[in-house]
Amino acid sequence: MFVDSHAHIDGSEFDADREDVIQRAQAAGISAILNVGTGDPHSGAFERAIELGRSHQSISTAIYTAIGTHPHDARLYDDAAEEKTRALIASGERVVAWGEIGLDFHYDNSPRDVQVDVFKRQLRAARDLNLPVIIHTREAETETIDILESDYDGAERRGVFHCFSGSEHLAKRALDLGFMISFSGIVTFKKAEELRSIARQVPLDRLLIETDCPYLTPVPHRGKRNEPAYVVEVARCLAGLHGLEIAQLAHVATENFMRFFSLQ
Ligand SMILES: [Zn+2]
Ligand SMILES: [Zn+2]
Repeated sequence: MFVDSHAHIDGSEFDADREDVIQRAQAAGISAILNVGTGDPHSGAFERAIELGRSHQSISTAIYTAIGTHPHDARLYDDAAEEKTRALIASGERVVAWGEIGLDFHYDNSPRDVQVDVFKRQLRAARDLNLPVIIHTREAETETIDILESDYDGAERRGVFHCFSGSEHLAKRALDLGFMISFSGIVTFKKAEELRSIARQVPLDRLLIETDCPYLTPVPHRGKRNEPAYVVEVARCLAGLHGLEIAQLAHVATENFMRFFSLQ
């Protein structure tokens, strides 16, 4: 059994065949998907993500939800967005994390000072609610770590660095801070030798696997839209790096997922 710890299956890329995608995940042995709702917090995107989980409670693949304002959309975050996110988390079933939040200085879709401010605000809100966070960070390693040290102090539940593609230094700091590290299809890419060497060093009890679909399709499916069933290829790659059978790696990643998000 596998888990996809970070997917975006509520997005419009899946509108035409979402149920088929979920069925293929079931057929591939995916026992749980964490669907991450992103977008303008005022647009109804978070409600849509929660509704997807709510409407799929009776199938064998459990769909859990995370909601939060992505750094790309930080400029849209305000008091009303924070209130709404808190209320949805309180009322939504299977909302298990606040995210994805963080800093993206590669695209700079929101001004950097706004990204920093909104990241800090959401960290504090998640800490108040005792929810783990899902961190997105790109080209902002030092700033991300500094903020986690200063503004996430004392948080009982930590978080996960999702779709990890950072440096060895970032991985080490993230582990020191008690975070999980989640690898996506990037780890299967031909040129990702450095990332594979980092993945080899992450302790097994801190490892998660994800697709981040519809993006970052793993080898050998590259060129196609990504989907949760392909998380098997991420597991296969990490199993090889850790000298395990794929079933063993999948078991470890599933146990980590259940423990980390406090699921049964
Ligand atoms: Zn992300
Ligand atoms: Zn994502």
